[in-house]
Amino acid sequence: MAGSLTFAMLKPDAVGGGKSGAILAHIQQAGFAIRAMQMLRLTVTEAEAFYAVHRERPFYGELVEFMSSGPVVALALEAPDAVAAWRTAIGATDPAEAADGTIRKLFAESKGRNAVHGSDSDENAAREIAFFFPERELALLGVV
Ligand code: UDP
Ligand code: MG
Repeated sequence: MAGSLTFAMLKPDAVGGGKSGAILAHIQQAGFAIRAMQMLRLTVTEAEAFYAVHRERPFYGELVEFMSSGPVVALALEAPDAVAAWRTAIGATDPAEAADGTIRKLFAESKGRNAVHGSDSDENAAREIAFFFPERELALLGVV
């Protein structure tokens, strides 16, 4: 494999806002290989589970409601040092604080509706990829 994997997601604001194509083009132009991709809608229970690490935070309820409000696009991305490279490419959580040229600066609406998700460690990338993509599909795609 030419690098490592990270998990990315286009959030409901981006998909519902018709920005999926532009963001996917940005991802590929930035040098990430899309190794797996699926559009789906999370149930409330699935969104709660995906963000369980944040369940004590004040924004958890709003985050779960938002993430289950419409379709998302789940992605397994490959690049050299993929987790760090993707965090750099998306920018700060709040688009007002994100660097110029980052995906959140270009496409996000607000700190909550911030267009994209990115794993924060290799361990969470593996956990998040497994949350969305069955092992069999990853094997058929040659990802694992
Ligand atoms: N979030 C929010 N308000 C906050 C912090 C986070 O609505 O004050 C949302 C936002 O959508 C963010 C997600 O919760 O992307 C997860 O938060 P985290 O701190 O992990 O930020 P990220 O890793 O996505 O930059
Ligand atoms: Mg995070």
